[in-house]
Parts: sequence; structure tokens; C-alpha cells
Amino acid sequence: MTQLPYRAVLLDIEGTTTPVTFVYDVLFPYARERVAEFLKNNLENPEVQRDLELLREQAQEDAAGDFPTAPQIPTDAAADALVEAAVANIHWQMDADRKTTALKSLQGKIWKDGYAAGTLVASVYPDVFNALRRWQELEIPAYIYSSGSIAAQKLLFGHTEEGDLRPQLAGYFDTTTGPKKNAQSYLDIAHLIHQAPEDVVFVTDNLDEAIAAADAGMKTRVALRPGNAPLPDHDHTTLTTFDALFED
Ligand SMILES: [Mg+2]
Repeated sequence: MTQLPYRAVLLDIEGTTTPVTFVYDVLFPYARERVAEFLKNNLENPEVQRDLELLREQAQEDAAGDFPTAPQIPTDAAADALVEAAVANIHWQMDADRKTTALKSLQGKIWKDGYAAGTLVASVYPDVFNALRRWQELEIPAYIYSSGSIAAQKLLFGHTEEGDLRPQLAGYFDTTTGPKKNAQSYLDIAHLIHQAPEDVVFVTDNLDEAIAAADAGMKTRVALRPGNAPLPDHDHTTLTTFDALFED
């Protein structure tokens, strides 16, 4: 059996397990195209009602602040007009690359529906599928650490081109544990997974995240994937495929 120089793996998603383009080329357009239909079909759903109320408050706040042209959501409109106004606001927010709670909450619901219906499938690099299988055989736990919410991470890995990968993942961390560019976050994660930091290898495409993990004592690998932003000079080990994590 291969003796690997680590006992646990911590993985970033975007630019590491999954193309950076997945979010902008697949997820965002999916939400944009489906939002009108989704709202029409789910207008009476109390959670959707809550999102619309959030969206209305956000639109008012935006109009009173930095975005005087923010499309507003009427309070006493007929269903069609309400949906039309909400769609205009959501498209406007997406064009401006906003990350408001109201937008994220609605997008999350649209993606959840899409994954459940099989019309949305998550992209994961083929070498990641293989690596997850091998780690499972070797009893090396693999964890995710992403700025996307844990719920979103589970949706993604639950609905990939190779099916449900959640049985091959030992746990999930998001920014509720701490920012990804803070060494303390990696110390906390090591503690939570009962590993010494030096026994954990963190794989990411983001140099600042790699530096933070290394400061915490973790081993690091910087993923070089097609479409990733070019990096300045650094002294972290790089990889182009997860196969490299099985060589020492
Ligand atoms: Mg990344």
C-alpha cells in the first residue's frame, strides 16, 4: 500500500475540484433563465414569499443608497406584475454581480430544484473522482472547504456527472468556520477533524489561501486548472491533476 505523506485532505472547490467556469457559465445562466418560471410556479411558497420580501427590502435599500436605478418590487401588484418586477431586479443584480442574501437565497432554491430534476449537473474534474475513490480505499478522509455554503457544497457533490459523491466526503466547511485567507481557520479545521495541521494537505487554486494554510502548518498544493487566473511567483508545490497527490 502506498504510504502517503498526509492523513487527511482538505479541498477547495472552484478552480480546484471544479472548473472556475462552472459558476459563471453554468450556475448563473441556469438561475437567470429559470427564475421567471420558478417564481411563477412557487409564488405561494412561504419561503419564496420571504425571499421576495427580502428582495423588496434590498431594492429599497439599493435605491436609497448607491443604486438609484435598482428595479423595485411593488407591494400590491398582481402575480404576473410581481414576477416581472422580481425577475427584472434579479437580472439587474446578476448583471451587477451582486451577492445579496435575497439573490443568493433565490438562486439556491432554483439550483436545488434543478439538481433534483436532473436538469442541472455539477462539473467535477475526472481525476477528482478517481482520487476520492482512492482516498476512501486508503481510509484517508477528504473534506471540502469552500466559500459557497455547506448546503450548496452538498448539492454540488450530490449531483455530479459521476453521481452522488457525498459518501466519499468526510465533511464540509464554509466561511462560518472563518475566512479562507486566515491561518486561524485552518488551525480550527485541523482541530475539528482531529488532525495535526502537518498531517493535512490543502489543495486550492488561490495563493492567499495556500499561504494561510501553510502558516497554520498544513501541507499545500496549488491547483493549476484550465481557466484559472495566473499566479505570481510562489514556492508552493503545484499540481495539474489530483493523481499527483498519490506520488511522493
Ligand atoms: Mg478556488
